[in-house]
Amino acid sequence: MSDKKPYAYKPREIEDMSDRAFRFGEGKISGAVACFLGVLSFLAVLCYQYPTYLTTTDLRAAYDGETLKVVLMVGMWGSLLFGLLTFALSRYRRYGAIGVLFTLAAFALGGYTIEVGEVEPSPLSLGLDWLVLTALGSVVIFTFLEKIFPKYREQAILRPEWQLDLFYFCVNHLLIAVLLLVANYFVVTVFGWALNARLQEWIQGLPILVQVLLLVVCADFVLYWSHRVFHEVPWLWKIHAVHHSVEHMDWLAGSRNHIVQTIVDRSIAMAPLYLIGPDKAALDIYVTFAAVQAVLVHANVGIPFGPLKYLVVTPQYHHWHHSTDRPAIDTNYAVHMPLFDKLFGTYHMPSAHWPADYGTTNRLPRTFLAQLFYPFKKS
Ligand SMILES: [Zn+2]
Ligand SMILES: [Zn+2]
Repeated sequence: MSDKKPYAYKPREIEDMSDRAFRFGEGKISGAVACFLGVLSFLAVLCYQYPTYLTTTDLRAAYDGETLKVVLMVGMWGSLLFGLLTFALSRYRRYGAIGVLFTLAAFALGGYTIEVGEVEPSPLSLGLDWLVLTALGSVVIFTFLEKIFPKYREQAILRPEWQLDLFYFCVNHLLIAVLLLVANYFVVTVFGWALNARLQEWIQGLPILVQVLLLVVCADFVLYWSHRVFHEVPWLWKIHAVHHSVEHMDWLAGSRNHIVQTIVDRSIAMAPLYLIGPDKAALDIYVTFAAVQAVLVHANVGIPFGPLKYLVVTPQYHHWHHSTDRPAIDTNYAVHMPLFDKLFGTYHMPSAHWPADYGTTNRLPRTFLAQLFYPFKKS
C-alpha cells in the first residue's frame, strides 16, 4: 500500500548480562556441567529402576537401554570429575556439591550397572526418559551452536527467565505419553472417516523424499492456518501469547507454550501424518526434521543460511515472528517453509535486519501458574 511509511530498523540493545556469563577459570562452567550431568544421571537411573512408570512405550522401542548405560557411565564419572574441579577452582563450590550429591545418589541406586526393572504394560506413564535424552542432546548440540554462531553474543546461556522455560521444557517432555494419547484419540475420532487405504498405498509407493516433501507441505499448510487462527481470534491469542511472552530468544525459549496450545498443536500436527499414512522411514525423517527445526528456529543462532532462507524457516525468520517491531506483528506463521506466508500475504523477512525487541505488547505474568490461568482471566 502506498500509504505505508518506510520503517526504520533499529539494532537490538541487550541489557548487561556479565554477572550471568560463564568465564573460564572461575569454576562456574565446571559447576554447571557437574550439576547438569549429576541431575541427569540420577534421573536416568530412576528410569532404569522404574521403567513402567517413568519411561514411554513408543520411545523405549527406539533406543537400546544397554548401550545407553555407557553414556550414563560417562555422565556419572564426568559429573564427579567436574564436581572435584569446581572444588579446586572454588567460588562456585555449591554447584559442584549438588552435582556430586546427585551422582552419589545415582550410584547408591545402582549406577550404570543397574539391572533394568520389569516393564509392565501401562497406557500412561511419565516421559522421564524422553526428558533426559532430549535435554542431553539439546544442551550439547544447541549450546554448541549458540556459542559458535551466536546472533547475540552478549546474551548469557542462563539468560533471564531460563528457569521458567526449563520448567515448561520438563512439563512438555514428562507429559509426552498423555499428549500422544490425546492427539491419537483426536485424529481417529475426527478424521477416521477420511482414511483412504488405496491413497495411502499409492503414497507409500512414492520415493521416500517425495513422501517427506508431501508431509512437509501438508503439515505446514495445516500448521500455518492453526497458528494464524491463534493470532487472529482474541481469546485464542491469550493462550498463544504465552509462547510470545519470551523476551530472550534461545533454543529453550520455544518450550514456553500454554498446555492447551501444546495439546492443540500436537493434535493438529498429527492429522496430516495420519491421513497421508506415509512409509515409516519418511515419517521418521519428517518427525526428526520437524523436531530439530522447531528448536533451532528459536535459538540464538545467526548462521547465514544463504538462499536456503527462501526455502525453509530459519531462526531469523521465526525471530521476526516473535518481534514486537510494528511491521513484523502477525507475520511469518509458517513452521517449515515460508511458502504459505508468501501465498497468503504474511511474509516479513528484511534479510539485512533482525528484531530490536521480542515479546508481547501487553506484558504477561512471569510464572508458570500465572501464565496457566492468564487466558481464562477477564482482561
Ligand atoms: Zn505466533
Ligand atoms: Zn516461536
